[in-house]
Amino acid sequence: MKRFACGDIIPGCDAVFSAADEDGIFAQAAPHAASEHGITADQITPELMDRFRAAMVTV
Ligand SMILES: [Zn+2]
Repeated sequence: MKRFACGDIIPGCDAVFSAADEDGIFAQAAPHAASEHGITADQITPELMDRFRAAMVTV
């Protein structure tokens, strides 16, 4: 299992996601980022993906 705390990238957000793998996390986190933080698909840069992956922990 993987776990991702949104607050690791966006300070102040307390949303936490868990899924079987990175793709499962992304499937939950992308709509959350869009609806809660106004991050659209074209703002998901390679740099942001690196931070996202680095913030993900294996549980
Ligand atoms: Zn968030």
